[in-house]
Amino acid sequence: MNDSYPKYLMAFDSYKDITPDILKEYNIQGILVDLDDTLVIHNYPVPDKSVQEWLMQMEHAGIPVCIISNNQKKRMMSFIKDLNVGYFYNSFKPRTHVIEYALGVMNIKRENAVLIGDQLFTDVLAANRAKIKSFLVKPVGTKSTIFIKIKRYIERKMSK
Ligand SMILES: [Mg+2]
Repeated sequence: MNDSYPKYLMAFDSYKDITPDILKEYNIQGILVDLDDTLVIHNYPVPDKSVQEWLMQMEHAGIPVCIISNNQKKRMMSFIKDLNVGYFYNSFKPRTHVIEYALGVMNIKRENAVLIGDQLFTDVLAANRAKIKSFLVKPVGTKSTIFIKIKRYIERKMSK
């Protein structure tokens, strides 16, 4: 691993493991979060119950959340319809202009922000370039999960 490799502050299995207490430890006052494969499976149209609960937890803790996605407008509008969050689509991470803009809108300092995402070379690299903290999460619904589902399906078929 050389110096140009994107560097994250911490890695988590899921966004669900990132709590207000952890954020407080790192002086984080605002969250920028990726959408696809970070909060839900790619293109899953709506926030599921755990996303809603996590966002509610952050809202109660007074930590603003802004969803920053490289995906398109239509996809984002479907997802955020009933949510009280900031959002940017077509963000072009690892470019940083949307991060800069979001920090301004949220009125938080660079050192008090974190970007949460599942991709090293889009999310973490964007955070590195913008000089903000980053948390890497495992992609929701990784191939292994799909593989396990297929395996179970075959097992079910065979046991009939
Ligand atoms: Mg992603």
